[in-house]
Amino acid sequence: MTTLQLPTFDDVRAAAARLAGHAHRTPVLRSATADERWGASFFFKCENFQRMGAFKFRGAFNALSRFDDRQRKAGAIAFSSGNHAQAVALSARLLGMPALIVMPADAPAAKLAATRAYGAEVVLYDRFTEDREALTWQLATERGMTLIPPYDHPDVITGQGTAALELFEETGPLDRLYVCLGGGGLTSGSALAARALSPQCQVLGVEPEAGNDGQQSLRAGHIVTIPTPQTIADGAQTQHLGKYTFAVIQRDVADIQTVSDAQLVDAMRFFAERMKMVVEPTGCLAFAAACADATLPRGARVGIIVSGGNVDLGRYAALIAGA
Ligand SMILES: *Cc1c(COP(=O)(O)O)cnc(C)c1O
Repeated sequence: MTTLQLPTFDDVRAAAARLAGHAHRTPVLRSATADERWGASFFFKCENFQRMGAFKFRGAFNALSRFDDRQRKAGAIAFSSGNHAQAVALSARLLGMPALIVMPADAPAAKLAATRAYGAEVVLYDRFTEDREALTWQLATERGMTLIPPYDHPDVITGQGTAALELFEETGPLDRLYVCLGGGGLTSGSALAARALSPQCQVLGVEPEAGNDGQQSLRAGHIVTIPTPQTIADGAQTQHLGKYTFAVIQRDVADIQTVSDAQLVDAMRFFAERMKMVVEPTGCLAFAAACADATLPRGARVGIIVSGGNVDLGRYAALIAGA
């Protein structure tokens, strides 16, 4: 078995230097209502206010800024129908290189339009008859483009970790840090930051109940793959963790919790009503888990990564209204 060279906190620091002046330093917000209601001190790191509306800009920009001249000339390729697509598209435009995104033909029109608006070329595929990975590799080879995966890449992980780095810089040590978990890029990056800046802090990944592959993996001690889960948390509909993300999570994450779609909607309502924020369902995972966590000590200092705010407004309204 070959041992993986895992990313380190120094790599997170290096990523932060690359992102300076390009990514927003997002605000850390408080809520007196949340503190009173749940008996803790909450610090919300609001990546819904990040460029393109989610933390994924951090990982994509960090990865693309490390390209050599040949890679820059040919550009970046990714397959995604979600925030990673827009993150790679925007990062490529800012760095002056081509981007090609492979998206399902039935992806929401707003997502296709947003990705094209950032200047990326979009290639559509049929989800039912075509193999998107094979298609992406074929295009990458033909055009000499570099594939940037959505989570299982050291530069993506360390880029995502800069959000927690900024949080700890602002708050000092925390007792707990809850992080939204899909493929584990955000959680493993956050864990690298916590390990260095707040070693006593318990880092908790949070998945949708229907898609608890990460929780199963942590308990089994190996990566467990599940069918695509049915959940409103579309950014966490991943089937398995990655090699790098799992290795860091196994070493540095205390536990993985799950929440139901109904709990996500409650958290969406809280953010809207009390904090005047639009947060997408996946972005609510961390807070929804903290609210329901019976093991949360009274008065604990709790970090919450609010991971993104990209949601179709019609869908958002329907979810909030309980339709
Ligand atoms: C991608 C995404 C996640 C999950 O991140 P991973 O790095 O895949 O674990 C969570 N929230 C939002 C808003 C996302 O776009």
